[in-house]
Amino acid sequence: MSRVLVALGGNALAPAHGTGTWSEALREMRRTAVALAGIVARGHELVVTHGNGPQVGNLVREAELAEPEVPAPPMYVADAESQGQIGLLIAQELSRALARAGAARAVLPIVSRTEVSAADPAFRAPSKPVGRFYTGAEARRLRERHGWVLREDAERGGWRRVVPSPRPRRWLEATAVRQALELGLGRRCVWVVAGGGGVPVVRDGRGGWRGVDAVIDKDRSAALVARSLGCSLLLVVTDVPGAALDFGGPKQRWIGSVPAAELRRHLRAGEFGAGSMGPKVEAVLDFVAHGGREAVITDIPSVPAALAGRAGTRVRRAPGTLGRRSRRPVKSA
Ligand code: ADP
Ligand code: MG
Repeated sequence: MSRVLVALGGNALAPAHGTGTWSEALREMRRTAVALAGIVARGHELVVTHGNGPQVGNLVREAELAEPEVPAPPMYVADAESQGQIGLLIAQELSRALARAGAARAVLPIVSRTEVSAADPAFRAPSKPVGRFYTGAEARRLRERHGWVLREDAERGGWRRVVPSPRPRRWLEATAVRQALELGLGRRCVWVVAGGGGVPVVRDGRGGWRGVDAVIDKDRSAALVARSLGCSLLLVVTDVPGAALDFGGPKQRWIGSVPAAELRRHLRAGEFGAGSMGPKVEAVLDFVAHGGREAVITDIPSVPAALAGRAGTRVRRAPGTLGRRSRRPVKSA
C-alpha cells in the first residue's frame, strides 16, 4: 500500500481552459473521479490537490463586473472561493465513484493556507498573469483604482494584470492531516488540500496570518504537500501523457522511466515550457530528491497504466538515498 498524492491540473478539471459550461466541467470531473477511485480501489491512501487558474480568473472577473454594487474581495479570498467550488465538485463526484468501486471513503476538502515569505523576491517582480486582457485606458484606470500591476502583452495585443508567484514554504494544515493519516484514517478518508497551491499567507507580526494577493504555483506546492504528508508516490495529472523532448517539434518523443539526473539535464537545457511542463518536472525532481519514492507525470486516461509502471514520465529515488526522510514532516525554512 502506498500513500499517493494526485495533483490535478486545471485541464484535468475543466475543459477548454475554464470557458466550458458547468455541466461540461462536471462531466470532466466525473471522468477524473473514476480514475482517482481506481487508485483507492487498489488499496492506496489518496490525497488530492488541484490547480485553480481558470476558476480564480473567472471569480476575479465576476467580482469586476459586480462592482460597485458588490465590493470585490481581495484575490486571496477568491483563491479560497475557488478551493471551495472545486473541492465541492471533487467531493461530489469522487464519493460517488468510490462507492461504485466498492471503496467508499469520506471526501474532505480543506480550505488550505500556504505560508510564503514576505521577503520573497517574487513580491518585487510580479510575473504571473491573471484574468482577462484590458485596453491601455482600462489598464491605467485599474492601476490607479486598485494599485494593480499590469503588463502589456504586445503579441496578443492588450494589458494583463500580473501578480507575484512566491515559493511555498509551509502548508499550514499539514500537521493535522498527517496526524490523521498516522492514525490510520487514510483507509476511511480522502482529503482535498492546498487547491490552487493554497491561499498565500504571511506572518502578521501578531502571532497570526494575513492573506496576500499572490498565486502559488500548484506544482511547487504539490511537491511540498507530498513531502509534508510522507507520500511515497506523487502523481502529477495534466492534459498530456507525459513530458516530451522536442515538444511540438519534428523529433518529439515522450519520456518514460528516466533517472532524475537525466531529467534535470533536460530541464536545464530548456526542454520544458516555463509556465507549464517546467514546474511539473521541477516538482517531481524536488519530491524524489527529498525522499519521495516515485513521481509520475501523466494524463487521466493513462493513470491505471502509470500506477503499474507502464505509462507517464516516471522518476524514482536513486537507490540507497534518503530512504526514510519522507516520513518526517517538512519544517518551514
Ligand atoms: P496544467 O493545467 O495541468 O498545470 P499546463 O498547461 O500548465 O497544465 O501544462 C501542461 C502543458 O505543458 C501541456 O499541455 C503542453 O502544452 C505543455 N508543455 C510544454 N513543454 C512540454 C514538454 N516538453 N512536454 C510536454 N508538454 C509540454
Ligand atoms: Mg499549469
